[in-house]
Amino acid sequence: MTAQTHHCKAVVVGTGAGGAVAATMLAEAGVDTLILEWGRRHAGSEHRDVVDSMSRMYIEGGATVAVGCPPVLIPTGRAVGGTTLINSATCFRPPREKVAAWGGPGYETLEPYFCEVEQRINAGVLDEELLGGNGRVLKRGGDALGIVVKPLVHNVRDCKGRGRCAFGCPVDAKQSTDQTFIPSALAAGARLLPSHRVDTFIMKDSRIAGLWGHSAEGPFEVLADVIVLAMGALFTPAFLLKQRMANRSGCVGRNLNIHPACRVVAEFDEIVDAFKGVPQGICVDLWASRGIMIEGIFTPPGPLLASLPGAGADYKSITAAYRHLAGSGVMISDTSTGRVRPGLFGSPFQAFYQLGTADAVSMRFGIARLCELYLAGGAKRVFTGFAPMPVVCNTRDVAKLEARAVNPTDFELLAFHPLGTCAMGDNPGKSVVNFDLQSHDASNLYVMDASVIPHSLGVNPQVTIMTLAMRAARNLAARSSRQS
Ligand SMILES: Cc1cc2nc3c(=O)[nH]c(=O)nc-3n(C[C@H](O)[C@H](O)[C@H](O)COP(=O)(O)OP(=O)(O)OC[C@H]3O[C@@H](n4cnc5c(N)ncnc54)[C@H](O)[C@@H]3O)c2cc1C
Repeated sequence: MTAQTHHCKAVVVGTGAGGAVAATMLAEAGVDTLILEWGRRHAGSEHRDVVDSMSRMYIEGGATVAVGCPPVLIPTGRAVGGTTLINSATCFRPPREKVAAWGGPGYETLEPYFCEVEQRINAGVLDEELLGGNGRVLKRGGDALGIVVKPLVHNVRDCKGRGRCAFGCPVDAKQSTDQTFIPSALAAGARLLPSHRVDTFIMKDSRIAGLWGHSAEGPFEVLADVIVLAMGALFTPAFLLKQRMANRSGCVGRNLNIHPACRVVAEFDEIVDAFKGVPQGICVDLWASRGIMIEGIFTPPGPLLASLPGAGADYKSITAAYRHLAGSGVMISDTSTGRVRPGLFGSPFQAFYQLGTADAVSMRFGIARLCELYLAGGAKRVFTGFAPMPVVCNTRDVAKLEARAVNPTDFELLAFHPLGTCAMGDNPGKSVVNFDLQSHDASNLYVMDASVIPHSLGVNPQVTIMTLAMRAARNLAARSSRQS
């Protein structure tokens, strides 16, 4: 079958936090831009049950894993909008000290970009009533202990608090990139090819001349002057390693941070109805300097109840108490790092990650503090996610939990923020791209996604990714217009 051929000045692969912003900046600057996206568009009206949403919009139905002891579930999106379509819509700027540690553009340089990103995705503090029961019971515990429980900033518009952010917003309130940057890119003249998966580079005289891939209609090729990869921190490095490109530093695929997280669920006598309102409405950042962040999390019964302990009548009583449950996650700014390699047997990547002891100790500390908050808020028992002490009922139990020896395998881990696998930096021997996100090795190749963030951030990363992509793509457009 002959390949469909497309020509453009710049091709952007991926429509998530990085790719959608990069494409918009290029198109708005007058650069002829083509966007390729493996996934398709999904309307709010399509978002029904959890299994259907996960099989449509998550890669491998959400069952992607980083191999280690314990293995870590690390889900990621495939859709127009990328992972922003299925994320929790929480917005944070990166901590100042993290930005300073990059050694690149300073916080003040990035500030105008943060403001523009936040304005374009409509980031704002949630209304009190959207915090629902899940926020209310944790806040009550915080008030009792004198610990501040804060409402989070979200990128939503006219949110109805349907409680299903991670499975696609049924009323399109989430201002994911398919609702914001992608329409702007198209309005500025960019072309979007959804359901187009990139497989290889096209090389000409040892320079990257374009991309080759396939769609339902057959193979395609894109011939472009500039290639921007924004496939996310798991796919971009796996692709570069498979293509044996841009890796003179040997850093591609290394330095994987993931923000490992553990879910804690509390049972109350009262009806909480935590599924009403925004599941990730609140946070406790008191221990952020220790790398610990507590954020609300609650899901429909299937994924939530599957993680709770017990068997027989005891387990049945927990499941019957679904309306009395509340949940939050403990997220660690990890010091452990993992690795991404090309996939085997048709799988797009392999990830390896071993939680280190220091991070496991932080996790136990965070779980203990969260148990105290819930108990102070009136919980009758708390399901900890920590195997040696799966249930606590009072503060004596919390003290016992903290006295238990800690082993990384004791936790049931999830991770939502892969970062760092094509790290930016000014030393070509120790980083993959420079601070303009241009490859040190191939001058017409750029990486504009989560992979460029060199260290764990300790906060949800979408605003950071968007900001870095915005600055880099504007600089790229300015250079292209000077050259032409
Ligand atoms: C359940 C969940 C909740 C989250 N909640 C939050 C939150 O509340 N706040 C926050 O800040 N962050 C959150 N995140 C993380 C955040 O959404 C991601 O960090 C961010 O979207 C990553 O941006 P990216 O551009 O690197 O990649 P992505 O957004 O993942 O986009 C990559 C895109 O590239 C496409 N792609 C991959 N390979 C190919 C290929 N070969 N050809 C063509 N296209 C390809 C993919 O289909 C995808 O659309 C969450 C993540 C998850 C999974």
